[in-house]
Amino acid sequence: MIYLDNSATTPVDPEVLNAFVKVNENFWGNPSSLHAFGARAEQLLIQSEKQVLSLLNAKQHKVIFTSGATESNNLAIRGLCHAYKNRGRHIITTPVEHASVHETIEELEAEGFRVTYIDVKGSNADIVKQIQEAICEDTILISCMHVNNEMGMVFPIYEIGQLLKKYPKVKFHVDAVQSVGKIPVDIDKMNIDLLSLSAHKFHGLKGSGALIVNQYLSLTPEITGGHQMYGLRSGTINVAGAVALAKALRLAIEPLQTNYQHVKQLFDHTMNELRKIDGVVVNSNHEHQTPYIINFAAAPIKGETLVHALEEYDVYISAKSACSSKSATASRILLALGISDEVAQESVRVSFSNLSTMEEVDRLIKALKIVVAQLKH
Ligand code: PMP
Repeated sequence: MIYLDNSATTPVDPEVLNAFVKVNENFWGNPSSLHAFGARAEQLLIQSEKQVLSLLNAKQHKVIFTSGATESNNLAIRGLCHAYKNRGRHIITTPVEHASVHETIEELEAEGFRVTYIDVKGSNADIVKQIQEAICEDTILISCMHVNNEMGMVFPIYEIGQLLKKYPKVKFHVDAVQSVGKIPVDIDKMNIDLLSLSAHKFHGLKGSGALIVNQYLSLTPEITGGHQMYGLRSGTINVAGAVALAKALRLAIEPLQTNYQHVKQLFDHTMNELRKIDGVVVNSNHEHQTPYIINFAAAPIKGETLVHALEEYDVYISAKSACSSKSATASRILLALGISDEVAQESVRVSFSNLSTMEEVDRLIKALKIVVAQLKH
């Protein structure tokens, strides 16, 4: 199988799975129990939290282990806006956020919050400038993703973080799902207050994520009950999931530079080959582009048709992101980036992991050439 849909999910690292199984076999106590067996589980949880904070260089933050970034994004955004609604009711974001950010903000807008959507068609410098111009007395939150999951563009998180040092009232949320474990993420240097991640995007388990949150912030919890996870997420804690997440994060971050170099070579080769195929238009050409994602269209073939045709060659890519690929409309994200409705409907995404190989790229290109030639007529 040629699996090139790693932005949707990645295969689980056997070491990560093993850590999950071992904790469930040997340390399955409830970390909230008073006895020593519970305390052992609690120690593992504390250790996992410390590891996550250290790997992402977050000195004044805490970790809320969640069911994934969707939950983290909901808790970060709704939790912060509800907690600070008396300080202000203005949110700044982009039109290309993941649905779990976009729809949460739309819901807040319906509740009476005012939202500014930054135009992200221009340069990163222009994005920072627009944010600076949009900040006002009423602004309480900026939510901006680090890497876009459909196009792979990298947003200027460091620069936005530096700008926000002048505005301590404005809190900074970053959906870092597509950057963590792939490009450097430094929470302190980037001046991030809240960061969301999902373990299955870096060879961890699905249903496991985290919200890393500045410990001096208040959030209104989404799930109430037994006050676990600093009172922000009630329910018996999935210690094995936390241990596995910390392990997956370490295994992704330690070789980050080497993996990056490898994937960059795959990216360069794929781009070269794609440009040689008649009718192919590469959409991913941002000044700051992650090599992990390539978006392109092979006119006049519909994205969905291309995905299914490649399946016949055991090649797996995606049309739009996995979360929205079953809807018939063109991608909201590509449209917001100024791509025409027609090209957006023809667009597909190839996404790599550190396990992807040059041979897989060659097989993709070979299959693509055959399929494009067949489907064009
Ligand atoms: N944000 C981004 C940028 C994503 O790509 C995804 C997953 N497609 C999510 C959030 C949500 O992650 P999960 O489905 O694991 O909750």
